[in-house]
Amino acid sequence: MKTDKRRVVLVGCGMVGMSYAYAMLNQNTCDELVLIDVDKKRAIGEAMDLNHGLAFSNSHMRIWAGEYMDCKDADVVVISAGVAQKPGESRRDLLKKNMIVFKSIIEPITESGFNGIFLVATNPVDIMTKITCDLSGFNPRRVLGSGTALDSARLRYLLGNYMHVDPRNVHAYVIGEHGDSEFIPWSNAMVSTKSVLSILEESNGAFNQEHLASIEEDVRTAAYRIIEAKRATYYGIGMSLNRITKAILGDECSVFTVSANLRGEYGQSGVFVGVPCIINQNGIQKILEISLTKEEKEKFDASCKELKDKIAEAERDLSH
Ligand code: NAD
Repeated sequence: MKTDKRRVVLVGCGMVGMSYAYAMLNQNTCDELVLIDVDKKRAIGEAMDLNHGLAFSNSHMRIWAGEYMDCKDADVVVISAGVAQKPGESRRDLLKKNMIVFKSIIEPITESGFNGIFLVATNPVDIMTKITCDLSGFNPRRVLGSGTALDSARLRYLLGNYMHVDPRNVHAYVIGEHGDSEFIPWSNAMVSTKSVLSILEESNGAFNQEHLASIEEDVRTAAYRIIEAKRATYYGIGMSLNRITKAILGDECSVFTVSANLRGEYGQSGVFVGVPCIINQNGIQKILEISLTKEEKEKFDASCKELKDKIAEAERDLSH
């Protein structure tokens, strides 16, 4: 009998990590789930809590609090570990701390003989994904970040609501940095088979540009508003990570705007940034280069520059 178990290792059992784990349990995403956290007691407690739901789930998942050597047989390692920003602490200081945290995580994972796909959620996600790739020495096609996958899901929800269409029939992307410089290439946004811009044109003013601009602003600022209301965001990102994991384990060739290493695509290189990619068991099977208008290309280049500047700053900080 073939016993090829689909194993996922989750590093970082906080709000994001456990929302992801809970989504996986409910959707029977894998056969084995290993929980790792610097706070071992927390990982043990989370494993117990999830296991107590098994009797009511469709899943036969084996869940345990494990060690880095469990990564050896993993198909996917997901990282949502990180330190929270302290009051008065700069974004730059936080990044420096998270870089040190990642060094302590990536080394034992690679030493275990892990040969699967890295999926990173820790913020700033584009930079932490690049760091994961650099530290692991993995082929960049096997290192992806959640990028703007969640932002694109937020866009599909808001646009679907506005146009009274199921978000699953909205094909629109947020690209660029997962952060303030992200943007929506409206020239590529579709509802079913019709472009959003032509829907606007034919709507006799029922739909308008001002509203699209306010949707874009709502997408960009969603995290700030959720954090203000409930201190952290986790369900949406948990669902996004689960969906991407399913695409990898199921060899789906589904498209998500993940953070991927550009090597000439969009005229950029040496930067991990959110772009639509075909995801399957190889990780990033292909980066899709959508055609951008001149203005959209300028926004994309500005977003890449922002990321490159932050990486250079972080590398300087770490070398001191
Ligand atoms: P959290 O504080 O609840 O959890 C972080 C966990 O990481 C904690 O359990 C902590 O013990 C663990 N940890 C810290 N250092 C570790 C180490 N060295 N080894 C192993 N585990 C370690 O935080 P959260 O709300 O779960 O957020 C986690 C990360 O996800 C943050 O960086 C957050 O900004 C990010 N996030 C990303 C997105 C996205 O779209 N990419 C969305 C929301 C949150």
